[in-house]
Amino acid sequence: MPDEGHVHEPAPVATPIGAAPLAATPVALPGPGRGMTASHVLALSRTIGNAAVARALATGALLAREPAAPAAAPAAAPGGVAPAGGVPTPPVAGAPELSQAPFAQLLGTVEGWSPREDWLQAHLATPGVDGKRLNLADTIVMRKETGVDEAGVVEIAQELYIVGTPVGDRDAVFTYLGFGGLALPSSIEAFATASAANAAAIATMRSFEERAGAVLGVINARLAAVGVPTIGRITKEGGGNAHFNKKSWTISVDGDFAMRGDPSAPAQLLTTVYHEARHAEQDFLVARSLARDKSAGEIAAAHEIPLEVANAAKASPLPADDPQAALADRLRGPVQDDGPDPDLAAIRDRLIEKKARGEKFTPEEQAIIDKAYARYKNRPHEADAFLVEELAKYGQATR
Ligand SMILES: [Zn+2]
Repeated sequence: MPDEGHVHEPAPVATPIGAAPLAATPVALPGPGRGMTASHVLALSRTIGNAAVARALATGALLAREPAAPAAAPAAAPGGVAPAGGVPTPPVAGAPELSQAPFAQLLGTVEGWSPREDWLQAHLATPGVDGKRLNLADTIVMRKETGVDEAGVVEIAQELYIVGTPVGDRDAVFTYLGFGGLALPSSIEAFATASAANAAAIATMRSFEERAGAVLGVINARLAAVGVPTIGRITKEGGGNAHFNKKSWTISVDGDFAMRGDPSAPAQLLTTVYHEARHAEQDFLVARSLARDKSAGEIAAAHEIPLEVANAAKASPLPADDPQAALADRLRGPVQDDGPDPDLAAIRDRLIEKKARGEKFTPEEQAIIDKAYARYKNRPHEADAFLVEELAKYGQATR
């Protein structure tokens, strides 16, 4: 979606804040839900972004509480030992082994802890426990509970990489968080490998058609591997770096952007087209979700996609309990702030003239551009595609 351009790096959402001020003033909110200590809220906001935590607190999805009185022993907890605040915590039987278990297993166990913070602390206090993995599991479970925040997912991907999680188990975490296909770490790894194998050759290609062909090969291999209909072709078209067109099931790329000569250009071209391929996957996911109660012809008409793509969707309808069902719902839901940003639209002509004259934008103009771009990137389709692009860049950087 090119109207406001794929130019900037995604800005970080979370600004880490110091622990002391908030820890001293725990928030107490009434209502149903799970209580959290102020330190828990802080840890959460560091990981998944203050804005997301603030939102979750405001809606009652998260509750902050005063540090709790010692909790009664949850019957289902491993070891059956009651963790208690304030008194020395007895070791939890099996805790070291649990902390080394695959995340696929660990997450289910951590999810069942109640109150989770007390159980986490009891496990962390047990000798031989891998605290980094346990804390990460706790973060992942909280990330799932607090809802979508793409910046938090990138951080989780990085932490999983740092603790040396095998790719199959990283896939399990991403599936748990509601992602699939091109967003899965195994897809990202395969893309990064193909990207490295092709980047040098792409750099030597002197025509748009050659480069487009090489990129199309890399991208379609990934789409085919995750069961998404492949892209017909990559066309040359200006107005933003790249764009996915669902009606023709093609991707267009800006000619100048595709032919840039700097050393990092081929890798960027590949991640940009991977972003557009994610849009194709999104539209296929929506079509699969429509396939529950629509014919292929109805899907093609309602979602404005080629009939052959609708046929493929009809052949693999998305189950209502699929891990990606929530993403499909977000993509199908009404888009807030759709259409051009009114402030940017008001100065657009002036900006184009200034750019043509090679004049610098004023700080005020730049602020409007940045705000419009942030607004654009927060739309469900873009937030998800930029997340996948970010994961792809991280994959390229770490292979
Ligand atoms: Zn996009």
